[in-house]
Amino acid sequence: MAEALVLERIKQLSLREIDLPQDLGPGDVRIRTEVVGICGSDVHYYLHGRIGPFVVREPMVLGHEAAGIVVEVGTEVADLTAGDRVCVEPGVPDFSSRAARLGLYNLDPSLSFWATPPIHGCLTPEVVHPANLCFKLPHNVTAAQGAMVEPLAVCIQAATKAQISPGDKAVVLGAGPIGLMQALAALASGCSEVFIFDPLDNKLALAARYDGVTPLYSRNGPPAEQISEATLGWGADVVFECSGASAAFRGIADLLRPGGTLVAVGMPIDPVAVDIVSLQVKEITLRTIFRYANVYDRAINLLASGQINLDPLITGTFSFADSIQAFERASEGRPDDVKIQIIMPG
Ligand code: ZN
Repeated sequence: MAEALVLERIKQLSLREIDLPQDLGPGDVRIRTEVVGICGSDVHYYLHGRIGPFVVREPMVLGHEAAGIVVEVGTEVADLTAGDRVCVEPGVPDFSSRAARLGLYNLDPSLSFWATPPIHGCLTPEVVHPANLCFKLPHNVTAAQGAMVEPLAVCIQAATKAQISPGDKAVVLGAGPIGLMQALAALASGCSEVFIFDPLDNKLALAARYDGVTPLYSRNGPPAEQISEATLGWGADVVFECSGASAAFRGIADLLRPGGTLVAVGMPIDPVAVDIVSLQVKEITLRTIFRYANVYDRAINLLASGQINLDPLITGTFSFADSIQAFERASEGRPDDVKIQIIMPG
């Protein structure tokens, strides 16, 4: 039994003892969690009880963005030892599956992912996880930064899929945590300028703190007109759709140059109508991503090198004892809040 933040049912959380798998397999490590970030998906399960086909039917521990300290290693673990500081990739595939053998382990149908029903998450003081999904943090990367690697990995996956060339100009739609990190990932991947759209002043003010990011208000007219002006009528090389709003897809091809690339990062709740002809007449490449594969090491390198600084995005910190309040706060969606983290006991 261990204490954990449990989603009992829609809109009901409790901090209580729960039976969790704690057996250490030969390839596993036991980790004392230090920091766990709250993700939009955690909040969505809390408020709505489901995301697409994933429905919360049994009490489930929330949380999947974790950094911590290794306290015990399995008999076959060679490259981690007790005391190592790590961040954790929350999706566990079958590495011998057909998808995994193609390098697409994130798409393995048997993959189990923390806090995606019915799998328990990591808002508990100790977790057991495969060692090959735990990544050592360099000394200059804090646990709070380490807990940001999971959402950053999504953005690195999208930047990789976009096949950015040096000097490209990109557009990011939506300046939530993922949109802001996507802008930074695009810059780190070689973009010379990133235009980011959002209706909220607070979010754009935060974006404006980063060199190379140009905040644009969605309310200052159609984004396509603003981008046409900013790119002398040519359009952006890459568009990252990070809002998940179906309205964002209306006229989205008008943001892009001929031959440009559109990456769908945000996940719209309902099916979206897309004007295929508008993509065809520009031979636009539409790419999608689902989480990430083989990007944690590169995400950590970018944090350690200082090329990506996520500290301004960590806007709230709560203790584990106050984690229900942390979720209530995150559910409010305050304009000033970006990433809220929970500091674990220990
Ligand atoms: Zn997440």
